[in-house]
Amino acid sequence: MPEPELPVAIVVGGGIAGLVAARELVFAGRSVVVLEERDRLGGQVAKHSVAGMDLDAGAEAFARRGEELPRLLRALHLDDQVVSPSGAPAWVYRARGAAPLPAASLLGIPGVPLARDVIDVIGTGAALRAQLDNLLPSLVASKAETVGELVRRRMGARVVDELVAPVTRGVHSLSPDELPVDRAAPGLRSALLRNGSLAAAVRAMREQAPAGALVATLRGGMFRLVEALEAELDRFGVEVRTGVRVTGWDSSGVETDVGERIEGEVVLAAPLGIDAPRTRVQVATLAVDAPELATAPRGTGVLVAAGVRDVAARALTHVTAKWPHLAEQTSLQIVRLSYDEGVDVTAERARSDAEALLGVRLPAPVDSAIVVWERTGRRSDPSHAIDGMRRVGEAESGTGLASVVTYARTVAGAIPSDGPSTEG
Ligand SMILES: Cc1cc2nc3c(=O)[nH]c(=O)nc-3n(C[C@H](O)[C@H](O)[C@H](O)COP(=O)(O)OP(=O)(O)OC[C@H]3O[C@@H](n4cnc5c(N)ncnc54)[C@H](O)[C@@H]3O)c2cc1C
Repeated sequence: MPEPELPVAIVVGGGIAGLVAARELVFAGRSVVVLEERDRLGGQVAKHSVAGMDLDAGAEAFARRGEELPRLLRALHLDDQVVSPSGAPAWVYRARGAAPLPAASLLGIPGVPLARDVIDVIGTGAALRAQLDNLLPSLVASKAETVGELVRRRMGARVVDELVAPVTRGVHSLSPDELPVDRAAPGLRSALLRNGSLAAAVRAMREQAPAGALVATLRGGMFRLVEALEAELDRFGVEVRTGVRVTGWDSSGVETDVGERIEGEVVLAAPLGIDAPRTRVQVATLAVDAPELATAPRGTGVLVAAGVRDVAARALTHVTAKWPHLAEQTSLQIVRLSYDEGVDVTAERARSDAEALLGVRLPAPVDSAIVVWERTGRRSDPSHAIDGMRRVGEAESGTGLASVVTYARTVAGAIPSDGPSTEG
């Protein structure tokens, strides 16, 4: 008896999670349809043109941890396009001005509270308070839910406000009191119990981290990953339909906004029908003719401490200082500022914030772009299959390309296939 044919796999959402899932499924011998509501693929990985340069409008880098994303880049022949950031430090901007972020830290938590670079940011009194961590029993705050609670109880409020909050707001778009410890720094809690203090735990975890930069990007932009995935799906006969919004879904198919019903096995790669928190992030990119910035006065960029009143941005990336391959392409300086929801972002506001954060007078930008993104936080009860539908994407895996790719490959790789995968 011939095997019954497996149904078409319908992937809803053409962001990185959907594209990676579709690729796994087609390599496993399935017929695949991708439905994407926008008129382009890639979701939060996208390009835009600023002062004639193609730049990332959304995600601009990936974390180097894990094996799946490097493996995908190798399979797509993009591994020789991976570039590292300059080694310059990031800075933190407090009400009292800017200072480099301490070198030996994790999520802004200092590994050596009395180090010169820690005292330079938080002052001697707060550094002595942070050093008390060393005298506290390791059980103190070891069950804290959030990063804010953990660090405040062990090292004091100023470490939270001036070292940790800038990092969690800039990187995770969350305040330390909203960020669960186990999501932000898996293993930190047990390292605290093993090593006796939070500072010792930070040092131990830093020693375990792989050498070299923690992040990287692709020469030409992260959006090249989308282009490469799209080309591969095309080559392997995946039907990709953009401009199609899915309005209904169940375990045997989906409905679209033009009233069409498509039957098949559903993989949801968009945050549909779930209770995950949503936030809006606004990103302003400026191209400025400011040769004073060529010396990278604030390293790769500036994270803004809690309680700062004169600047509305929560982080600034000095793009041409962070990525030498981009600086080679232009005599202009590119800076990118992120803002929370509710701030009225204009190019002029971004210019004046950049001036304060970088400590340099800036002329009106040669060009600028402002993009608004909706981001989905992780669901409180992620599960890769509900009501017979598989789910991938950042609401399930947590935000960030490394997590999203790993999760999508794992979930889609476990879906029944016609035979062994043809790809490694
Ligand atoms: C400004 C910014 C900077 C970032 N920087 C980084 C970074 O440097 N490094 C990093 O690792 N990560 C970064 N991220 C996060 C990273 O981009 C995301 O975690 C990742 O791209 C999420 O991929 P996804 O496929 O899960 O979701 P998305 O990219 O959001 O894709 C979901 C897709 O589903 C589509 N969709 C939604 N509803 C429907 C529907 N009803 N029907 C059909 N389609 C639908 C959407 O249009 C979208 O294309 C950044 C994000 C932003 C916004």
